[in-house]
Amino acid sequence: NGYFDHNATTPLHPAARDAWLRASEKHWHNPSSLYRDAGMASQHLESARERLGTLIGTDAERIVFTSGATESNNALFAPLPPDALVLISAIEHPSLREASRGRQVLELPVNTDGVVEPDTLKSHLSAHRPALVSVMAANNESGTLQPWRELAALCRAHGVPFHTDAAQWLGKIDAADLGECDFITGSAHKFGGGKGCGFLVLPSEDSRLGFIRGGPQEHGRRAGTENYPAIEAMVTALESLTLRLGEVAQTQSGLRDAFIAQMRARFEPLRVISECSPRLWNTVLMVMPEHDNLKWLTRLSRRGFSISTGSACSSGKEGSSVVVTALGASAAELKRVVRISSGWETTAEDWQALAVAFEEVFEELNRGGRPQ
Ligand code: PLP
Repeated sequence: NGYFDHNATTPLHPAARDAWLRASEKHWHNPSSLYRDAGMASQHLESARERLGTLIGTDAERIVFTSGATESNNALFAPLPPDALVLISAIEHPSLREASRGRQVLELPVNTDGVVEPDTLKSHLSAHRPALVSVMAANNESGTLQPWRELAALCRAHGVPFHTDAAQWLGKIDAADLGECDFITGSAHKFGGGKGCGFLVLPSEDSRLGFIRGGPQEHGRRAGTENYPAIEAMVTALESLTLRLGEVAQTQSGLRDAFIAQMRARFEPLRVISECSPRLWNTVLMVMPEHDNLKWLTRLSRRGFSISTGSACSSGKEGSSVVVTALGASAAELKRVVRISSGWETTAEDWQALAVAFEEVFEELNRGGRPQ
C-alpha cells in the first residue's frame, strides 16, 4: 500500500462503511418529518450526537453537524463583525486563515519547533482583548501538536473564547478532554469517515449559529437536512479508532522513526520539520537536500506512492508550505518540502518500500530525470 497522504484524506474505515450502509438502508428518512420512521432516524441522529459528545468530552447539545472542517471554520467567524480582534496562529489551515479575513487578525508566531508557546499567548492576552483565539490542535503539514490545553486555560482565565481546529488530532490522539475548548472543529474524512461531513462544537447549547439559514435543523443552528448516514459513519469510525489509540500510536511512530533514520542514512542533509517537538505519529514533513518537491512527487506517484508537497489545499502552488514559511525557510528550501502521512493500516513493509522508492527516484533525478 503506497498511500502516504492520510493528512489530505483517509480511506473509509470498514466499520464506517458498514454503519453508513446500515443507516442508508434503514434510516434514510428525513429526521425532521413527523411519522414513525422519521422519528427513528431522528433518534439515531441524536444518539450519534451523544456518542460523539462522549468521545470528545462535550455535552451533545454543544455539537452542530456540518459539511466538514472548512464549513465549521467559516461558521466560526461568520458572526464576528469587521472590528472584532481575533488571534490566530501563524500555521493555521487555509480554511481558517481565509475565514478570518475581514476581521482584525493578529497572528500568534510559532517557535523554532513550530509550536505556539503559552507565554506568547499570555503576552498577547495582556496587551489585547480579542473576541476569539484560534489555535489548531495538530498541524496538518508537520503534525506538530499544540499545547491547546494550556492555551484554552489561559483564554478561560482572561474570559476570552478559545477555538481549536482538531481536524488532524481526532482519531489519532485521545480527544476525551477536547471539550475544554469553547469551540472545536472536526472533519470525518480525516479519520476514516466519509467526505463532506464534520462538526463544530459551540460553547453551550444556547450558542447561536446563523451561518447556513433555512429550516430548523440542528436546533435552528444549521439549516439543511442532516446527513445522518455520514454522521453515523463518522461517529462509528471515531469510536473504532479510539479503542486502539495507544497501541497504534506506539507501533506507527516507531515505524515512522525507522523510516526517518533510513532516509537520513541516505540523504544528507535531511531536515525534518518539528522533529524535536511532540507531533502526530503519522506525519513527516521534510526538506529534501536536492530537487524540487514536484519532481519527487510525480516520480514517486509513477511508482505507486502518494505523498504531498505540504497542504493538499494549497498544492499546485509551488513552495506552498504554510509551516515551513512560518519557520522562516528560504524560497529554495520551500521548493524541496515533501509531506508524508501514514495511516492506521500502514505496515513496516509499506514504509520500507517508500524508502527504497525515494532512493530509486534520487538516482533517476541525478541521472537527469530519465526513467529507466
Ligand atoms: N483544517 C485542517 C487542520 C485540515 O487539515 C483540513 C483538511 O485539509 C481542513 C481544515 C479542511 O477540512 P475539510 O476537507 O473537512 O473541509
